[in-house]
Amino acid sequence: MHDDSRCPCGTGLLYAECCAPFHRGCAEPISAEVLMRSRFAAFARGEVEWLWSSLHPDHDDRSEPREDVHAHLRDGLGRGVVYESLEVLDTRPPDAEGVARVLFAARVKARAKDVSFVELSSFVHDGEGWRYLFGAPVSTGASTRGRLRGDPRKLTIEDPRKLTIGDPRKLTIDDVERGDE
Ligand SMILES: [Zn+2]
Repeated sequence: MHDDSRCPCGTGLLYAECCAPFHRGCAEPISAEVLMRSRFAAFARGEVEWLWSSLHPDHDDRSEPREDVHAHLRDGLGRGVVYESLEVLDTRPPDAEGVARVLFAARVKARAKDVSFVELSSFVHDGEGWRYLFGAPVSTGASTRGRLRGDPRKLTIEDPRKLTIGDPRKLTIDDVERGDE
């Protein structure tokens, strides 16, 4: 993949004019959503350093050595995982504690098997830039994937794993917070 190709993050922009400056450490995403998109693009392009440096210091993976996380990411990406497309479903600006949220659907294939998932991610600005704090998987009725990372008490949903929701394209953060009441 070259820099004159479309960015995998779904903006429709060229990679060189979209997420490449973030991956190279030349710029910081202006919002949690842009950071989230840049992380998806980094998965799609194997930019493991950005996947590491965009983690908030409180993220679970930050307790492991950087080289181990790099190796783990490379290992996963080397197993025929294809990050096909990203759809941002809903966003919330920073709350009183500075936590911004992004609900997204990621189309992902692992050796031709569909392992797509929906996640409600939380982000905090650390003074330098937006950082990924943790992600909570959201069941879409078809599959539940991933594990709850970080401190779930910071989430405004009681237990996202209990949720069963139909078409993820119609999902909003309000739906997730209402749960299956
Ligand atoms: Zn991009």
